[in-house]
Amino acid sequence: MAKEQGWRARSAFKLMQIDEEFNLLQGVTKAVDLCAAPGSWSQVLSKKLVENQSEGDEAKIVAVDLQAMAPLPGVIQLQGDITKQSTADQIISFFDGEKADIVICDGAPDVTGLHDMDEYIQAQLLLAALNITTHVLRPGGSFVAKIFRGKDITLLYTQLKVFFPKVTCSKPRSSRNSSIEAFIVCQDYTPPKDYVPNMGDPMLDLAPTDAQGRSNRTIVPFIACGDLSGFDSDMTYQLPDTGNDDYIVLAPVQMPITAPYLSAMEKKRKGFFNEQMSKK
Ligand code: SAM
Repeated sequence: MAKEQGWRARSAFKLMQIDEEFNLLQGVTKAVDLCAAPGSWSQVLSKKLVENQSEGDEAKIVAVDLQAMAPLPGVIQLQGDITKQSTADQIISFFDGEKADIVICDGAPDVTGLHDMDEYIQAQLLLAALNITTHVLRPGGSFVAKIFRGKDITLLYTQLKVFFPKVTCSKPRSSRNSSIEAFIVCQDYTPPKDYVPNMGDPMLDLAPTDAQGRSNRTIVPFIACGDLSGFDSDMTYQLPDTGNDDYIVLAPVQMPITAPYLSAMEKKRKGFFNEQMSKK
């Protein structure tokens, strides 16, 4: 159906269904499509914003992707990485210093097939999208992004709630039921007081804050101490070779009151492990 209707990818239906539900594109004149190639979400933006623009209120759409994308009416393309400060700067300069009304991101890393790894990388890409969004979105604006609903998803929701009072997880009908893919719809961008966007250390800045707006994430200093040229506790050392057998191995200063291995030794004596082995 996507091909029949002229969409570059069937994900166009996902954005259209999200918009039908949340009406996010109403009144939008500046939009950013992160991870946009081959461009079906940009097509939806182009269709909805460019076709409905009024005179003097020209629609501006920026599409960012690592890969090149075929041109689309009214869409400016930036071939770049969403984790780079230069990409954020280029977006803002395209909007003549103004900020976007909406940022959307359907980004996906190359799938490895290792589910935990794929979920983790997807979450990292989403955080990168959220981070660049904090540079380019106007207060009150919206952010829509693809997520994988894995076991650690509540952490991600908490991070998003730091910036958006309204966060909804949405599953368009055009997204396969069997897929853990869903989309978070974040509305009314309200960064914490004194928040300064920082591309260099996103995880630190995206940490939840307390009621006073202070960051809850702390870095505890790590200091190595002791004689670093001395014994290494991860090494096994040979007994010193004194040449004559006079090296005395001392008994422990305090023997354990009840040695943890005693019950295992007792079982061994009674042949418990032999029985176990024969059952196998
Ligand atoms: N929304 C697109 C559409 O409707 O046609 C499909 C997007 S595709 C599923 C995911 C895209 O994410 C790929 O084109 C990939 O190049 C892009 N991507 C992944 N990591 C990126 C990054 N760090 N910066 C920019 N784009 C990235």
